Amino acid sequence: MYRSHTCGDLRVAHNNQEVTLSGWVQGVRDKGFMIYIDLRDRYGITQLYFDEESTPKDIIEKAQKLGREFVIQVKGTVVERSSKNPKIPTGDIEVLVSELNILNNAMVPPFTIEDKTDGGEDIRMKYRYLDIRRNPVKNNLIFRHKVAMEVRKFLSDEGFIEVETPYLIKSTPEGARDFVVPSRMNEGQFYALPQSPQTFKQLLMVGGMDKYFQIVKCFRDEDLRADRQPEFTQIDCEMAFVDQEDILNVFEHLTKHLLKEIKGVTIDNFPRMTYDDAMRKYGNDKPDIRFGMEFGELNEVAQHKEFGVFNDAELVVGIAVPSAASYTRKELDALVNWVKRPQVGAKGMVYAKYNEDGTFKSTVDKFYDQDDLANWAKATGAKPGDLICVLSGDANKTRAQLSALRMDLAERLELRNPNEFAPLWVIDFPLLELDEETGHYHAMHHPFTSPKPGQLELLDSDPGAVKANAYDLVLNGNEIGGGSIRIHNKDMQATMFKHLGFTPEEAKAQFGFLMDAFQYGAPPHGGLAFGLDRLVSILGGQETIRDFIAFPKNNSGRDVMIDAPAFIDDDQLKELSLKLDLKK
Ligand code: ASP
Repeated sequence: MYRSHTCGDLRVAHNNQEVTLSGWVQGVRDKGFMIYIDLRDRYGITQLYFDEESTPKDIIEKAQKLGREFVIQVKGTVVERSSKNPKIPTGDIEVLVSELNILNNAMVPPFTIEDKTDGGEDIRMKYRYLDIRRNPVKNNLIFRHKVAMEVRKFLSDEGFIEVETPYLIKSTPEGARDFVVPSRMNEGQFYALPQSPQTFKQLLMVGGMDKYFQIVKCFRDEDLRADRQPEFTQIDCEMAFVDQEDILNVFEHLTKHLLKEIKGVTIDNFPRMTYDDAMRKYGNDKPDIRFGMEFGELNEVAQHKEFGVFNDAELVVGIAVPSAASYTRKELDALVNWVKRPQVGAKGMVYAKYNEDGTFKSTVDKFYDQDDLANWAKATGAKPGDLICVLSGDANKTRAQLSALRMDLAERLELRNPNEFAPLWVIDFPLLELDEETGHYHAMHHPFTSPKPGQLELLDSDPGAVKANAYDLVLNGNEIGGGSIRIHNKDMQATMFKHLGFTPEEAKAQFGFLMDAFQYGAPPHGGLAFGLDRLVSILGGQETIRDFIAFPKNNSGRDVMIDAPAFIDDDQLKELSLKLDLKK
């Protein structure tokens, strides 16, 4: 028996008991006549001690050789401590060791295994198994488990069945590139790893499963952005015989359940906002509504004066920054420079201070009098003491720029409280999105999303205006889930593919199986998927999803611990009928 208790178990109630513990040596303090060891396992830390007077000499000598992270087993007696440590649950006792068994030696770890470590990100990733021994990482993994269990419990109670779908499949278009796997037995052919189980879950609905879910890995070969993982986990769901309202209800319940169980937060009904409103009010389809600073459109009040920059702009739009009228010239210059950074891309910024005394002072006083500026204040909701920041230009770009500024200011003003949760549904997304580079439309959500009833006619005349039965669940400025009511009719699916630029042959080759299935009694159906990594990190009040993944990839998509991806040898290449032509 390796242990009678864990390192988190023992209390004063165990006084005088004989116990056996196993774990890692967190630290050794050799005081000459006494040796203290902190013994750690997943459950906690227990203080061991060796006493020169009562502990046999050979055991003392063994103890003196122990180093950090040695794996040991000890037998001993629980003793109530005279000086207690209120910081740990086992702090009232210690264990006087009578037997010591070294189960394994350990090299000196490359960083300290403490809550606050001296190890940088790279070294901790390389030795992730050591990082996992630290409380912050360990606790995050336990937290993730708890969220996943709550999800399973809730969905199972609601009648959802977890079904596994294959990983070796054919492309599912979710807007990224596929990771592919060469098939040894089918020369020159490749599987694709699923970007999501989208087509399979729809086929499960055709198969009559009615309510499906799966906590599932998805793979997307995207250009890496900060805090994206090439493989990530979805809570993937689909239901038959439902409309949008049914789906929103079920998953609003799930989200409320999680907020209640995990965070103890009760939220009534989630607000709903159309995509168009979200873009108009926040310049963003995943608005953070924990704070205001809603956009005020200023075309009417700021154009047709003498100021050419605004007159030429498609959109003039501003926000009121709370209590920022007192910003110094230096702070204001920094703001202007911030929006001019290439990542944001604004050409400049006009601002107006709404002074406490009710007067205005702007960078464009030459063109706008106090009444004009009072109109700006009205449109942006500015109060005395606020600063009105105004951008102008192409509508879409300007909205995106002002949204970036709004989020940055909120960060600086500490308006993004991680312990506050503000979910909302964004609905009525456009069906199609224009790719500026190619001039072609592609599906904003994915090609299986149905248009809103009665909008099909618009597909030919004004494709960009067609709205979809598509929705996102947004939490604190992050899209945590998204889905749609699907097309379940072969002809409509074929029409959709046509509009997306597929020839009938291409559509058949890629998605013939789905359109065939639609001919055998496909029920109306729809669903959504949550991003589990992101959901867990937001519930955990932290920024990066990496911190909640046991073995994440770094920002260049590499696993630096196992050193992947890696080259494969020539025999393996040959077996797969692959030839590499690397210009070395
Ligand atoms: N498959 C979609 C996604 O990965 C979710 C859905 O439409 O259910 O975003």
